[in-house]
Amino acid sequence: MNVAKTALVTGANKGIGFAIARGLGDIGFRVAVGARDDARRKEAVERLRAAGTDAFGVALDVTSDDSVAAAAATVERAAGSLDVLVNNAGIAGRVDGGRQDPTTLDLNVVRTVLETNVFGVVRVTNAMLPLLRRSDAPRIVNMSSNMGSLALRTGPLLAAYASSKTMLNSITVQYARRFSDTNIIVNAACPGHVATDFTGFDAPRTPEQGAAIAIRLATLPDGGPSGGFFDDGGAVPW
Ligand code: NDP
Repeated sequence: MNVAKTALVTGANKGIGFAIARGLGDIGFRVAVGARDDARRKEAVERLRAAGTDAFGVALDVTSDDSVAAAAATVERAAGSLDVLVNNAGIAGRVDGGRQDPTTLDLNVVRTVLETNVFGVVRVTNAMLPLLRRSDAPRIVNMSSNMGSLALRTGPLLAAYASSKTMLNSITVQYARRFSDTNIIVNAACPGHVATDFTGFDAPRTPEQGAAIAIRLATLPDGGPSGGFFDDGGAVPW
């Protein structure tokens, strides 16, 4: 019997995360829809099911140890193991749509952004690891941003957000080093500039276009690259 692989996508109720969930569902994954808000999660699961995806909801606030532990228990009960983890949930931490000037940065904003974009990824990854280790081809994708690239120095001045993605890239490399003698593959992805709530829908790419690189990295064959940073065009400079 061919048992479907299971993928957990964090922040899957909308935007790029929803498109990743939908795209993985379209290629046969059973999708765990990680979302913190009950109503938004339920609605996303219903939309995915209507589109033919075998989806189930997982209550998940990446900033809460208790929520993440409960989410791991939910996935274990529902699927027994996990093949793909996409750490997609992220926040910009913009106050009133403004920039984050490093010379006037509110450290509480920095803390909040790191709590979601970096600590959240570590928290979720480590909680899901026992389930990922039960897969015969575990894949982890961390949704980063080219704004986190030290080489490119691109995008608006968002000091807290950009540095959170730089740290996420660094953590991704650390995980890859740790997993180098295992079959776990972990990479960071940049979706490009995508029209979602995150960008006020003022961006050229669709969520489906933004999701494509995450789906590609989630389905890498054994021996594929690990510890890299990729967008649709290939490797993104660190
Ligand atoms: P959206 O704002 O549309 O979606 C963000 C998702 O993350 C929502 O589902 C949101 O849930 C969820 N989320 C936020 N905080 C938490 C939390 N504490 N626990 C669980 N879920 C949470 O953004 P995008 O889809 O545009 O962005 C997705 C990822 O892609 C982010 O990591 C972002 O940094 C990255 N990215 C996006 C770019 C773009 O152009 N859009 C460019 C580069 C990177 P809720 O609905 O409850 O708020």
